[in-house]
Amino acid sequence: MAAIDGLPPLREVIAAHGLSARKALGQNFILDLNLTARIARAAGDLTRADVLEVGPGPGGLTRGLLAEGARKVVAVEKDARCLPALAQIAGHYPGRLEVIQGDALEVDLSGRLAPPVRVVANLPYNVGTELLVRWLTPPEWPPFWTSLTLMFQREVAERIVARAGDDAYGRLAILAQWRAEPRIVLDLPPQAFVPPPKVSSAVVHLDALPGPRFPANPRTLSRVTAAAFGQRRKMLRASLRSLAPDIEAHLEAVGIPPTERAERVSLEQFCALARRLDEA
Ligand code: SAM
Repeated sequence: MAAIDGLPPLREVIAAHGLSARKALGQNFILDLNLTARIARAAGDLTRADVLEVGPGPGGLTRGLLAEGARKVVAVEKDARCLPALAQIAGHYPGRLEVIQGDALEVDLSGRLAPPVRVVANLPYNVGTELLVRWLTPPEWPPFWTSLTLMFQREVAERIVARAGDDAYGRLAILAQWRAEPRIVLDLPPQAFVPPPKVSSAVVHLDALPGPRFPANPRTLSRVTAAAFGQRRKMLRASLRSLAPDIEAHLEAVGIPPTERAERVSLEQFCALARRLDEA
C-alpha cells in the first residue's frame, strides 16, 4: 500500500534498497511518516524556505519536509546506499530535492541555498553536536540559517536549553542561548527508531536572534567559558586565574563573587565579564 505521499512505505523502501542500519554511521531510522511530518512542522513555515537536511538516510524526514511544502531541500548523506531511495523521492518532487553524497562535516554548500534557510536533521549524536557548535559559532552573525531543528539524545538536548544553576548548564547552553533561542519541541522514546537506540531522544528547535542577547566579543566569551567550565567544580577565582592575574577584581567589578562556581553564573554575567576583560 502506498503511503500518504504516494511513495512506498519506508519499510518497503528499506527492503528494496537493502538499507540495513549501520551502527558505524549512527543509523537509527524513523519509519513513521506521521512522526517525520511532525518533526518537519516543528521546523516552522517551510513554504518560503530552503531546507538543509543532514543525514536523510532512506528519506522519511525528507518526505515530511517536501510534503510540508519546503521550497527546496538540499540533503547531504554520507551513505551511498541511500542514493537510489532518495532519487526516487527527487523524481516524485521534480526540481525540489537536491541530494549531495558526502560528509556533512566537509561538504561545501556555498551557492546551493537561498535565504531564509532552515536546517533540519536527525543525525548521529557526535556529528550533530559538532555541527551545532559550528553553526552557532560562525565568523559573522546573523548566520546563514534562520532556524535549526535537530535531533539529539535527550541528555544533550537538556544541556542546550539548561539555565544557570541546572546540572546540565555549561558551554553548550551559553553558546546556544547567547545568539539563539533554543527549546525542546518533541520527546521521542527509543522505540520511535529502527533499530531503537539505548537512550531517549529529543528534537531541539533553535531560532537565530538578529544579534547577541548581551554584547561580548565571541572569542573572549569562548575563552572565559572554556576556562570556567573546564574546571567547573572550582571557584572562578581559581579556574579563571590564567586569564588575568587580577581576576578577583574583575569578577567583583561585574558583581560575580570570586568564590562562585561556573555552573551558577548566568549568560548575562559571563558576557559582562568578557567585556570587562577586553576593557582591562
Ligand atoms: N533522517 C533519517 C531518519 O530520520 O530516518 C536517518 C537518520 S540516521 C539517525 C542518521 C543518518 O545520517 C544516516 O542516514 C547516516 O548515514 C547519516 N550520516 C551519518 N554521518 C553523516 C555525516 N557525517 N554526514 C552526512 N550524513 C551522515
